[in-house]
Amino acid sequence: MENIYTITLYGFIVGMVGTGLGGIVSLFIKDTDRTLSFLLGLTGGFMLFIVTFHLLPESFMLGGLYVTIGGIALGILLVILIERNIGKMVNNPYMKAGLLLGISIAVHNFPEGLALGSSFLTYSDLGPVLSLAMLLHNIPEGLSMAIPLKANKMRSWNIILYTILAGIPTGLGAFIGAYLGMVSTVFIALCLSFAGGTMLYIICDEIIPGAKTLHRGRASSIGVVLGFVIGIVLYF
Ligand SMILES: [Zn+2]
Repeated sequence: MENIYTITLYGFIVGMVGTGLGGIVSLFIKDTDRTLSFLLGLTGGFMLFIVTFHLLPESFMLGGLYVTIGGIALGILLVILIERNIGKMVNNPYMKAGLLLGISIAVHNFPEGLALGSSFLTYSDLGPVLSLAMLLHNIPEGLSMAIPLKANKMRSWNIILYTILAGIPTGLGAFIGAYLGMVSTVFIALCLSFAGGTMLYIICDEIIPGAKTLHRGRASSIGVVLGFVIGIVLYF
């Protein structure tokens, strides 16, 4: 039983420290409109990489075509529902983009935590190494979430707080993964494509248009392409 608590603790540290560090990194970035537009583009391109090379291929492998398509559709539906309700409370588009991206990062952290928890049990020697890899992987994701919040001139402490909160589902996922030992692969596939669908929609609907509105130059387009390439370089 103690093992489960250790694994859960690892999960929370990986999630909250990882995305939280991304939030802290964002505080050192100079916030002119042009830089933020470039960085928002970079965020969009990087998330696009996460969806195409990480979330969807894994979902295809584990659950097949129909589960993946179903997950994407459900993900998009959820964002539209949340967007409608957030739209009434939050007027600023960057604030909205940051919150939505935060929710989608939090949602995708859950299956990552599940994977961490169950692989910790199967390959206990690899656990700490896997955790470190996942922690590092969470830093750019936390940064991505922080950029639109920064574009909205949100207070530093709040940015850090929100990025730390987005890491909580990793810990919950790790606990459930370790508790159940084996989690249904179809369920993990559904979670992954669901997260992919939410991200895909937010990138197209909020992040890239938001980057273009902030500064009408080429900066954001170069950012999108560069973000995608950086993803490939970082993860291969
Ligand atoms: Zn991730």
